[in-house]
Amino acid sequence: MTQTLLPDLPGFSIEQITLSGGVITVLAQSRTVSASCPTCAQLSSRIHSRYQRKLADLPWSGRTVRLLVQVRRFFCERLTCPRKTFAEAIPALAERYARRTIRLKEVPASTPRCFNIRRRD
Ligand SMILES: [Zn+2]
Repeated sequence: MTQTLLPDLPGFSIEQITLSGGVITVLAQSRTVSASCPTCAQLSSRIHSRYQRKLADLPWSGRTVRLLVQVRRFFCERLTCPRKTFAEAIPALAERYARRTIRLKEVPASTPRCFNIRRRD
C-alpha cells in the first residue's frame, strides 16, 4: 500500500519523506553505479563529488512537493576527452539545469489553479 502512494522516481530510491510547513520534501538517491559522459559517451563509475538538486514536483493533495535528488559528479575516464568531470543526468526526472520535474512541466497551463501548483518561471 505504501509503495502506491510514493512518487514514481525511475532509477532512484526514496531515502526520506518529510512534511514541514505544508511542504512535502522527498529525498531521493540514484541507484545507478555509473553514468555516461555527455561529451564522449564514455561510461564512468569514478565519482568526483555529490550534490543536491532541488526540483519542484507535482503536488500531493494540494501540498507542495519538493524533490531533493542526490546527484553525483563523475570523472570522465577517457584521457582525450576535453570534459574532465560531468554531472549525472536524470532524464527520467528533469532536464539539465531545470528547477522542476518533467511531469510538472507537462501539466497544462490551465491545471495549476485546480491543483494549487506554484510555478517558478
Ligand atoms: Zn568524456
